[in-house]
Amino acid sequence: MEAQTSLIKQHLIDPEICIRCNTCETICPVGAITHDSMNYVVKADMCNSCMDCISPCPTGSIDNWRWVPKTQTYSIEEQLKWHELPQEKSLEELQAAGVSVGEPSTVSTPARLPALPNIPTFAELGFPSMTGSQWLGLSAPKNIPAPIAQKLTALMPEILAKPDIASRLEELQTLPRKTPVVGDDFVKLIRSQIDGWTKVAKRANVQVMV
Ligand code: SF4
Ligand code: SF4
Repeated sequence: MEAQTSLIKQHLIDPEICIRCNTCETICPVGAITHDSMNYVVKADMCNSCMDCISPCPTGSIDNWRWVPKTQTYSIEEQLKWHELPQEKSLEELQAAGVSVGEPSTVSTPARLPALPNIPTFAELGFPSMTGSQWLGLSAPKNIPAPIAQKLTALMPEILAKPDIASRLEELQTLPRKTPVVGDDFVKLIRSQIDGWTKVAKRANVQVMV
């Protein structure tokens, strides 16, 4: 049996969109970023998540993170060979690696999670305002031509219904909405999330660094 280990959120760079501009390596105050002729990569044992490199990166490629067992972080050698980022590990993969994932007593998702079918939601226990979970969305540049935006919007339900997409989302405990939120409704959803979480942050005196 694997010895138990804890999780860390490992900072990674997306090799598919990094333009190798060297900005991050120049900025990092602790020298956690290095590169070769192929990739820019982050040293897991040196990065202290200070976020100094996030805003200056012109492509957003540096704002990538993966939960990994502390004993199995992606090495520099591995990262230098990547052509794309690895997917987030599933709950089962983390447990198989020796991560102790405690059984929660409730979940904050809108519906029960397939991996935890016996655990009720806060809403079921009488606290609907405690509903909050991660969500994923696809957005395009502001001036994208309308026909392309409409085509992408129309394709979303079909893509989300694909079995491989649905099963991967389920592994990540991210459930596709029965009716995908698209177009103007997606914009409204983003605005309502910003409004709602801004109030929470203000009430709790949390400062958000961007
Ligand atoms: S988050 Fe901070 S320590 Fe980590 S790579 Fe970026 S600048 Fe360096
Ligand atoms: S700043 Fe961003 S785009 Fe430039 S090298 Fe770093 S990760 Fe790549």
